[in-house]
Amino acid sequence: MMAPVDPPVGSFLKCFVCVSDEGRTWTELIQGFTKESDKVEKNLAHLQTLLEKAHVKPSVICRGCNMQRYCSLSHLVADRQEHKPLCEVLRDLQKSMKIDHPLKLLGQITDRRKLQLVISQLKMVLLAKLGRPLNQREHQLIGNPAVCDVCFSTEALEDCEGCAGVAFCSAAHQRLVRGYHTPEDCQTLALIATPFRQLNCLVNIKDFYRSCPLKESNLIKAFTEATDIRISDTPWTDLESYQLFATCSSFSGIASLCLALSHISWVPDPNKAVIVYVAGATEDTLRYFEDMHLRFLFLQYPSIRNLELHFIGRTVGRIDQVDIKFSDRSFEQTVVKCFYPLSFSQYSCILNVDPTLILIMQPDFFGVGKVTQRISRYMKRKVPLENEWKPCLSSVIRSFGVPICYTSISRAQAISDFAAITLSAEKSKIAIERAYNIMGNPYREILPLHNPAPEDTERIVYANNYLEVIFTSKKKCQ
Ligand SMILES: [Zn+2]
Ligand SMILES: [Zn+2]
Ligand SMILES: [Zn+2]
Ligand SMILES: [Zn+2]
Repeated sequence: MMAPVDPPVGSFLKCFVCVSDEGRTWTELIQGFTKESDKVEKNLAHLQTLLEKAHVKPSVICRGCNMQRYCSLSHLVADRQEHKPLCEVLRDLQKSMKIDHPLKLLGQITDRRKLQLVISQLKMVLLAKLGRPLNQREHQLIGNPAVCDVCFSTEALEDCEGCAGVAFCSAAHQRLVRGYHTPEDCQTLALIATPFRQLNCLVNIKDFYRSCPLKESNLIKAFTEATDIRISDTPWTDLESYQLFATCSSFSGIASLCLALSHISWVPDPNKAVIVYVAGATEDTLRYFEDMHLRFLFLQYPSIRNLELHFIGRTVGRIDQVDIKFSDRSFEQTVVKCFYPLSFSQYSCILNVDPTLILIMQPDFFGVGKVTQRISRYMKRKVPLENEWKPCLSSVIRSFGVPICYTSISRAQAISDFAAITLSAEKSKIAIERAYNIMGNPYREILPLHNPAPEDTERIVYANNYLEVIFTSKKKCQ
């Protein structure tokens, strides 16, 4: 158990260097509990100082990007090297657009929709200019920016003492939200704003025990049953609880796959490999398929002896095949992971498409997040991730008779994704059969996110919240 220290309160207003120091000390503290106890005492004292220091308002704001906050100049300097690439892109953007804050990219922010629109455009600019996906802390800085929850001002902010997940420019504006900033909201926002979100801190679980009936369960129940690990109700209060919570959340991908498998008529044959194509895979998708996740799948499906995972996506970096063997039970279960840095349409031109299932995690088939003209002129080159789904989708739906499972982050996104499929199918005279779909997927991630889609009304969303399985077939001639 953790010793009683004050929980770390947020947030996006906090000094990044202090946050990572805090994370490191928490980690050492957790490890210390199983090792020498005098080290624990020392770390505990150190942590208390760090926490007290973190309550000091981070008054220094980086003058390059106008977004990153620090407690002191020395911490700004200490972070410079790591912060620099993102900072320079934002600095150049402000200069060229003649604005004094990145969030003013589309003019003054007047409502939440506009805020989300600016966020998605900033992410796209950064993606194109940096030529790589944003890391955890950059996502948190851009996706969860410090603005007044009422008027969207970026000046003179104080955060909510309960969650540190929202900030206000004045006491008057803080009073305005009392009615709807409920304790429940406060907890969800605490989980969004916790500085632990900036740390990459999954636990590698090695021991798995019991399976559970997937159709009647949910992610936390199935995870606890499988690992004997209990998940905290207040995971933002200490790193150990948060790590386990985030780890449980990462089982969303594999558990959703298991749920999809339980809804298709499919006869497990120990002599035949189960082949899953993960189409449109990115580095982000791969984090759902670590060894511990695969063990979870084998636990639910002991009849699967050989699993082949084909990761197909233009940004998948690796190429080498990975072979993994598990002998948790009296028999051996093997996994082959193959990586193809190709789009699905390229892949299907070269290789024979005959999997057990095609899995697509949060595709955004329509490419809703388009960049406006003005910004694309600023970028002077094409966004690398312009909608690659158009040709791919028509190849995906040509895999007749193969179950296709996709997930979406929100109701609006799910509607848009299905509309894209229908449209593509109509053009190619292909019939769609909806085998299974569920809103509020019990195996969605449990870490909340601000809704990245500006047009959508849901403020908080969860990855893989919507899940659908479809089959396609050639339309009969009339
Ligand atoms: Zn600091
Ligand atoms: Zn900066
Ligand atoms: Zn305000
Ligand atoms: Zn709050």
